[in-house]
Amino acid sequence: MNTIWAPWRMDYVTQPKGNVCVFCTAPNNGDPFILKKEKTCFAIMNRFPYTAGHCMVAPYRHIGDINAIDEEEYFAIMTLVRTMVRAVRSAMNPHGFNIGCNMGSVAGAGIADHLHIHIVPRWNGDTNFMPVLGDVHIISEHIEKTKNKILRNLE
Ligand SMILES: [Zn+2]
Repeated sequence: MNTIWAPWRMDYVTQPKGNVCVFCTAPNNGDPFILKKEKTCFAIMNRFPYTAGHCMVAPYRHIGDINAIDEEEYFAIMTLVRTMVRAVRSAMNPHGFNIGCNMGSVAGAGIADHLHIHIVPRWNGDTNFMPVLGDVHIISEHIEKTKNKILRNLE
């Protein structure tokens, strides 16, 4: 085992109690972890990141299937993913990224009904001791500090 790419666990942890969808509520309730709002989608920090700088891009609409988003949303989401990659790269100098989504509960999506793309910066050697520690996340920087760094590098 040599991977820390397991965003389903993060979804599970971040899933709110009850039936409230965090991706529906966060953009409208002044959530401090919102990084950028566009017309049809937004970017938000993951509160329980696997690496520092882990953020997500989601449409405002409560849609779970990538084929249910329209052309405008699709283009806006992918454009915002690229914008976030540039910002995180400038802010944190990662060596690479994991970018992707889990569609459906069987694929590991904790919040399966609301599509979201994970953007996880990676550094050489960041998995070296993770298997030993299991579910323990190693984050070397406070999320507020990371957020502010990304915001300063966001276009
Ligand atoms: Zn939703």
